[in-house]
Amino acid sequence: MELTSELVRTKIILRKGKEAPVLRGHLWIFSGAVYKMIGKPKAGDWVDVYDWKDQFLGAGHYQKSSICVRLLSNNQSLNTKEILEAKLANALAYRKELGLIDNSKTNAFRLIHGEGDGLPGLIIDIYANAAIIQPHSFGMELAVEEIKSALIAVMPHQFETIYVKHPVNRKKEMTDQFLLGKEGQQVILENDYRFNVNFETGQKTGFFLDQRENRNYLGTISKGKSVLNAFSYSGGFSVYALGGGASFVHSVDVSEKAIVLANENVALNNFEKNHTAYSEDVLKFLRASNEAYDVVVLDPPAYAKNMKARHQAVQGYKRLNAEGLKKVKSGGTLMTFSCSQVVDEVLFKNTIVAAGLEAKRNIRIVRKLGQAPDHPVNLFHPEGTYLKGLVLYVE
Ligand code: SAH
Repeated sequence: MELTSELVRTKIILRKGKEAPVLRGHLWIFSGAVYKMIGKPKAGDWVDVYDWKDQFLGAGHYQKSSICVRLLSNNQSLNTKEILEAKLANALAYRKELGLIDNSKTNAFRLIHGEGDGLPGLIIDIYANAAIIQPHSFGMELAVEEIKSALIAVMPHQFETIYVKHPVNRKKEMTDQFLLGKEGQQVILENDYRFNVNFETGQKTGFFLDQRENRNYLGTISKGKSVLNAFSYSGGFSVYALGGGASFVHSVDVSEKAIVLANENVALNNFEKNHTAYSEDVLKFLRASNEAYDVVVLDPPAYAKNMKARHQAVQGYKRLNAEGLKKVKSGGTLMTFSCSQVVDEVLFKNTIVAAGLEAKRNIRIVRKLGQAPDHPVNLFHPEGTYLKGLVLYVE
């Protein structure tokens, strides 16, 4: 967007007191906080936000929804290009600190994690020479070409492919597209394991990068162990368990496509010998099986997408974990996860307590797990926390 058009952008004035969260670094303006709007912004337009004393607070993308502005800058005079380039460079510097850049063993990571990287509404995942842009706001949908330019500016010569992949809830209105190249898949390296990532047809942007460190942990405890990987998707946990020396691994996923992918990835790492994959509903599988395992991994999809669904989701997690615990051998381990943002750490733990009581086992908490650090949470925007995990020692 040109600077000239940004000069005439809408001014949004907040009600008295509503500036406090913004001054603390929160990046959302809720529609209920708006006192007055001078102008008629369209979805995705840049707007300027002011407090009730007419002090400039920040500029961001507008859309008509309960979060009506996603703040992107506290400098009124910067344009989209300057903002994107600065934030992408900053995000890259952070990933360098994490050791994720120029790493000979891992070449897939999340470069932009929305609010955690100061860019609400935007996800960018890097898979070797491919960048996947996932817009989560109208403003970011309109900015994909500028995002592409910023990517090329901060990581020159890196990309053969730049692909825009819209989230499931925008699939009807929006079309995924290549902004550069046309190859829809990549073999990536993660801690020296190889995975085939198809970002055109895969879930999310193609791979669950957020579980990288937790998969690695599983590898460290798998030697000689029998492992059940429930909700296996592309077989990430299975590959690490096999690489760590598991005696055998069973992968279970309801999706046939996921099972094909898991088998493919296990083969890509030459671990087929000790792996079997089942295309089945996990609860059915658990209830029908007589087998007990040394290690059980439960990584279900988000059971609750919003507050309304939370109660039911908690019941679902409890049922699943109670069944999962029954399949852990005495002295074995349960690694259990929830990626529902609305189920916080405390509620998740309490749900596992309820499941433990139902399963009637003595259980110790070995470790608490979370999302990998390339999915950072802005300290002033706690809503960014979503993945929680517990490693449990089950007597
Ligand atoms: N652990 C994976 C990510 C899991 S995503 C990783 O590290 O990559 C959740 C997976 O659960 C999806 O692949 C989805 O197909 C599967 N799934 C959803 N509902 C299911 C059910 N009832 N039974 C089995 N699998 C299910």
